[in-house]
Amino acid sequence: MTQSYDVIVVGAGPAGATLAYELAKKGIRVLLLEKEKLPRYKCCAGGVTTRATRLLDFDISEAVEDIVYEVSMSYNFGNPYTGHHNQPLIYTVMRDVFDYLLVKRAQQFGAVLIDGQQVTQIQTNADWVEIATADSLFHSRVVAGADGAYSIVAKESGIRRGIKYIAALESEVIVPEEDLTKWKSRVAIDLGCIPGGYAWVFPKRNHLSIGAGCLASKAKDLNRRYQEFLRSLGISNYTIARTGSHLIPICGKRATVSQGKTLLLGDAAGLADPLTGEGICHAIQSAQLAAPVIENSLLQDKIELQDYQQLVDEKIMSELGIARTLSRILVRFPHLVFKMLRPDGRAWRGYCSLMRGEVNYATIKERTGGFKGIFTLLSRM
Ligand SMILES: Cc1cc2nc3c(=O)[nH]c(=O)nc-3n(C[C@H](O)[C@H](O)[C@H](O)COP(=O)(O)OP(=O)(O)OC[C@H]3O[C@@H](n4cnc5c(N)ncnc54)[C@H](O)[C@@H]3O)c2cc1C
Repeated sequence: MTQSYDVIVVGAGPAGATLAYELAKKGIRVLLLEKEKLPRYKCCAGGVTTRATRLLDFDISEAVEDIVYEVSMSYNFGNPYTGHHNQPLIYTVMRDVFDYLLVKRAQQFGAVLIDGQQVTQIQTNADWVEIATADSLFHSRVVAGADGAYSIVAKESGIRRGIKYIAALESEVIVPEEDLTKWKSRVAIDLGCIPGGYAWVFPKRNHLSIGAGCLASKAKDLNRRYQEFLRSLGISNYTIARTGSHLIPICGKRATVSQGKTLLLGDAAGLADPLTGEGICHAIQSAQLAAPVIENSLLQDKIELQDYQQLVDEKIMSELGIARTLSRILVRFPHLVFKMLRPDGRAWRGYCSLMRGEVNYATIKERTGGFKGIFTLLSRM
């Protein structure tokens, strides 16, 4: 028998879980369809910026592994400098725990979850959307694609075009207690060791998440460079508990995120930050922009989702446009960006304010005198 809902959300990552939560809060009948059995592991550094946590109207402490106050920045395995901030910059999480926390929150407000069901086909008719999994059929008035980098909703609807990718590797590394203590509350970033990207260490409660990512077009040597980075950390004795790789989609200038009865959120829409690879914040934000548009549409009994496109253009695409230019600067001049981010400089303070959601890229650009101002600063390095 076909099951019917007002909205079906495909994918129960941060984007899908947040949308299900926001809609369920409004009393909308929402189904969350997830291909994996939850909680599921996701290959990710698990850095949730303070900016992202500020979007949520509930506490995530039960999922927090560590709170980051310090960032050690190095260039091409050289000596790092460490910047300290007196307030939290990033909360680290394991994605199985964090994402499931968001899903459980949605369920508490009445969202229905069916996990272990991979969506295989989507067809849109005049009155509804038909969504098929291997053994079930569902109907809804709106479908939201929150199904990540390899989104079937994006493919089936033909919406997503002009996407580029960041290729990223990540290992969960078990280290001796003294190394864990050394890395507590501190993220490390090396610029320059990965052409077209960077490598990182993110501290977790009982291990370190160590990874590297770069533009997929420059990823030929990513694995070898990553191994070099791992060795350069000087950790005496470690075991790799888990390792994986994944793509992070990055949308282009005029990306389409809604069409007819379909909308795309988070990675499915390519909304990750091209400079940092951070995707959780915009996954959550896009869901929060979508929810009231869907609600209005259902209330008026006329499915029109163009307002979502406008909101995403205004609040997210404008930021991604600036981040795209900054990422080009990072790819070409990593040594200058490294120098610019010294902990005693303006750029470091700007970076901290950005992580904390106190400013956005537009404010930073304006305060620096536009890209011209940024180039002037770089040329003085
Ligand atoms: C190595 C690495 C490190 C990263 N580190 C960070 C970081 O520190 N901080 C940060 O903010 N971002 C980070 N990111 C990016 C971040 O992981 C993504 O941007 C984020 O997960 C996007 O959330 P989402 O909800 O859009 O998609 P996802 O989290 O990918 O969720 C999509 C969900 O859809 C499900 N799904 C897929 N296909 C189907 C289908 N056909 N049917 C049903 N369900 C389906 C998937 O199983 C998944 O659960 C990293 C990415 C990588 C690869």
